[in-house]
Amino acid sequence: MVVFLAASLGGLASLYVAVGAWLGRYPKMANHPEVFLLFLGVFVVWFPAVVMLRRVTRGAMSRNRMKLALSHASPLIRGLVHASWIYCGLVWAVTMILHVVKKSPTLTNEGVYFTAFLLVFYATAMGVSASVLAMTPEQLDPHCANGHAVGVEARFCESCGASVRQAAAGSA
Ligand SMILES: [Zn+2]
Repeated sequence: MVVFLAASLGGLASLYVAVGAWLGRYPKMANHPEVFLLFLGVFVVWFPAVVMLRRVTRGAMSRNRMKLALSHASPLIRGLVHASWIYCGLVWAVTMILHVVKKSPTLTNEGVYFTAFLLVFYATAMGVSASVLAMTPEQLDPHCANGHAVGVEARFCESCGASVRQAAAGSA
């Protein structure tokens, strides 16, 4: 819960700074030390988010991890997370292309570039924590019918072969 609130606040603050960046408020990051506080905030929310991510994707295929980690978040939150990824990808691509075309040694607008990455980290941490909050204890820590702990994607227990209770997994 704390992580979700912190990530949401950080996300909102990043959004505010990102909008300011588009308005040309932060062309040089070095002149705006307050923006660096948001970078510190990223570490604060990202660490617990990674811990949660590892927990809810235990034993899962790596390419399914993000999908699984967000699977219990609301569609709105999932949409926000995906939007931040797309936005950051676009900003990164455009910045790189401009960089090559103009052959300039500095970034055109550092503020826009860095806040895009801030948004991704905050949005993803928010999405993962929202998803974890929506999960039941059994979904967080699945067991087979005989009580052995199993991986989140397991259908059968690795220890005894019993089927994993699907009631909990299917209820979402
Ligand atoms: Zn078992």
